[in-house]
Amino acid sequence: MVSLSSRDVISARVEKILLYLSNGVTPDVSLDEFRRTPLFNLLLILGMIFFAFYSLITLFSGDYFFGVIKLVITIFFSVTFVATRKIGIPSFASPAIVSLFYLYFIFIGVTGGPSGNDYVWMYVFPAIAAFLSGPRRGTLWSLSLITIIIAITSFFPELPLVKTYNTVELTQICGAYVLVVIFAGATDAILLYSFIKMFEMKSTLEATITELHASREELHQQAMHDGLTGVYNRRFFNQTITTWTIQAQRHKSQTALLMIDVDYFKKYNDRYGHLKGDEVLKTVAETIQATLRRESDMVFRYGGEEFAVLLTKTTPETTRKVSESILYAIRRCNIPHPDSSFGTVSISIGVAEWEPQQESIFAEDFIGIADSALYEAKGAGRASIIYRTCDLTTDNDRQTTAIVSID
Ligand code: GH3
Ligand code: MG
Ligand code: MG
Repeated sequence: MVSLSSRDVISARVEKILLYLSNGVTPDVSLDEFRRTPLFNLLLILGMIFFAFYSLITLFSGDYFFGVIKLVITIFFSVTFVATRKIGIPSFASPAIVSLFYLYFIFIGVTGGPSGNDYVWMYVFPAIAAFLSGPRRGTLWSLSLITIIIAITSFFPELPLVKTYNTVELTQICGAYVLVVIFAGATDAILLYSFIKMFEMKSTLEATITELHASREELHQQAMHDGLTGVYNRRFFNQTITTWTIQAQRHKSQTALLMIDVDYFKKYNDRYGHLKGDEVLKTVAETIQATLRRESDMVFRYGGEEFAVLLTKTTPETTRKVSESILYAIRRCNIPHPDSSFGTVSISIGVAEWEPQQESIFAEDFIGIADSALYEAKGAGRASIIYRTCDLTTDNDRQTTAIVSID
């Protein structure tokens, strides 16, 4: 029994041999060349060895005529083998090899070869022709070969060197030969068909995989984004805020969380209807997004008419600038809202700011501070911003650093 390690060694060797035979298959070769190259190389190697050996025997036996012919064939195989390994199968190789064998076997068939019975070698021709020229052309080559041999031996028996076959011999040779032609052609046709099918399946599979990747990416994007406004959704906010709080504290980078809520939005819906209300939410989301300059700043729809903005590596000045820009940008949209005391749609913002010198906090605390700042902004008359630091040591007395109001 073959042990696992020796089996590995054997399979490694087989792989090495296959690799050696496939040499000449470059990535840009055609499908047909790809299919043929390993067998083509094998054929050339066997051809080289066989004809080299055969030509030496023939030369030593004193038959210089056949010896030289076989030597020429050996040289041709060697040159083609080297060329194949350097540049892939040269386009002349297949027809040249088939023609060479064709002429050689016609000669052997007509004369019987040096031994008189060498014509039996012509039975390899149908397989070689089908493989090198394809099933259809290969079959034509093979049938024409036997036709020519029969024609010459039957109609010109008096020519020099021509072998005389009797009728029984001819019938047997022809019958066996035609069978070989049919099977060689059919086998190659089936192989070719399977190969084409396999490649079709491979490309279909590749296309399906690409599509799957695309839909997975799309699903992934959908899972992160809010369907109405297109900004990130609450689910993604929950994921992000936790990692983001940890990162900020690890890298000691100043960060801020803005909680934004549309003022008197219920009244807006009551007057204009939900669909109009949805349009306003879209405009608010777009406006907030457009106000943010840095790629790292993120907008989320926190829920209903509430949005959250995360600012990383910020400074108190930047946080104020961004918050005020958002506040004013929404007002500049000038969306009429007769039921608001401001006459147009406005927002209130609660800001929580974490600075590296402050104690570490959890994401929940961070959200809580921003939320209560927002609540305070509402209490301060709406359309305003309340800033709070995340200094937990001062407990409920966290200081309000500024109130910015539009009016
Ligand atoms: P405040 O100024 O205190 O924030 O008042 P408000 O009316 O905005 O707040 P309230 O929480 O009373 O109402 C929020 C409203 O937001 C209620 C609901 O009709 C509306 N809303 C929530 N989600 C959506 C939505 O997806 N589309 C629309 N059109 N309206 C929504
Ligand atoms: Mg609300
Ligand atoms: Mg509201």
